[in-house]
Amino acid sequence: MANGEEVSNKQVLFKDYIVGFPKASDMVLSTGTMRLKAAEGSEAIVVKNLYLSCDPYMRLRMTKPDRPSYFLPFTPGSVITGRGVAKVVDSNHPNFKEGDLVVGFTGWEEYSLITMTDMLRKIEHTDVPLSYYTGILGMPGLTAYAGFYEVCSPKKGETVFISAASGAVGQLVGQFAKLMGCYVVGSAGSKEKVDLLKNKFGFDEAFNYKEEDDLDAALRRYFPEGIDIYFENVGGKMLDAVLLNMKVNGRISVCGLISQYNLEKPEAVQNLFCLISKQIRMEGFMVSKYNHLYPKFVDFIIPLIKEGKISYVEDTVEGLDKAPGALIGLFSGRNVGKQVVVVGRE
Ligand code: NAP
Repeated sequence: MANGEEVSNKQVLFKDYIVGFPKASDMVLSTGTMRLKAAEGSEAIVVKNLYLSCDPYMRLRMTKPDRPSYFLPFTPGSVITGRGVAKVVDSNHPNFKEGDLVVGFTGWEEYSLITMTDMLRKIEHTDVPLSYYTGILGMPGLTAYAGFYEVCSPKKGETVFISAASGAVGQLVGQFAKLMGCYVVGSAGSKEKVDLLKNKFGFDEAFNYKEEDDLDAALRRYFPEGIDIYFENVGGKMLDAVLLNMKVNGRISVCGLISQYNLEKPEAVQNLFCLISKQIRMEGFMVSKYNHLYPKFVDFIIPLIKEGKISYVEDTVEGLDKAPGALIGLFSGRNVGKQVVVVGRE
């Protein structure tokens, strides 16, 4: 592959806006061409995509917008965009040169022309798996770090509950809470995930929420004295059960509500009065608010990874043709750990 050459470019296109659960057929595989040269006079770069990240918020981009949204909708007929790790093939940008490894917004295709380069970060630490920049060293990692340490105000000895606990964000939050000396319980949707939580990530307890008829009773079993901190990833019935089990002055960090993303009409939350009676602080956050903490976060997490003090599980599929299935799998819990699509290797 020579710089400037025109190559064929496999792509995943977004078909059209959807209602309800996404299907793999809402995305189509296509083959276009790409000239591996950034236009003279632009600050664009051309990259070879290596690892793509499947993230739950991408479902929100598949809904036809009826008002301005933080999540820019996908354009029907266009390449799906999302976060990924890529290698620079050609650059007219002063901050990036050929051969640089970058992480940020790119396309679901073999090669991408990136014009929004202010959203890209150059990868400095290359002595860890590069795919980690889609997860533990990327947006989900920073989400776990900021959502736990900044939003939850945790203290040693507190009781912490995490939903979707084996996923990209949840597995890290649980381990941060253990490092702080908290009692940590997670919920997940299969026995395999429950075993991971207890045996690999060191949670004190874990349960399969799909096997619990009464979530309130399940939480009472694991938290007889109540919950100090809830790291919310799912919403719906779980949030209602948690509200009943929170302690006075508890904190709820609202990171995500994945159980609601495919519903036409979100479920009503019944137990909000607990916020008042128990003086709970419930705070939603967007990871983008904490982007400035990324260098501090990397300094914190890299030694933990290298010293084996933190475990990290990825679920990888190979090839762009597997990408649609991997993305929709997030909504049935098919993924075990952070969902990554391998498009190419260095
Ligand atoms: P993930 O946990 O790796 O994958 C999603 C998981 O959610 C699935 O594996 C599944 O696990 C669970 N799930 C799917 N549908 C569910 C349902 N109806 N009820 C309960 N659980 C369900 O995803 P992630 O990247 O770590 O994201 C976790 C949450 O954080 C999401 O809500 C996401 O939107 C949010 N998030 C927020 C920010 C932010 O800036 N606020 C940033 C990143 C992520 P089970 O098998 O356990 O059901």
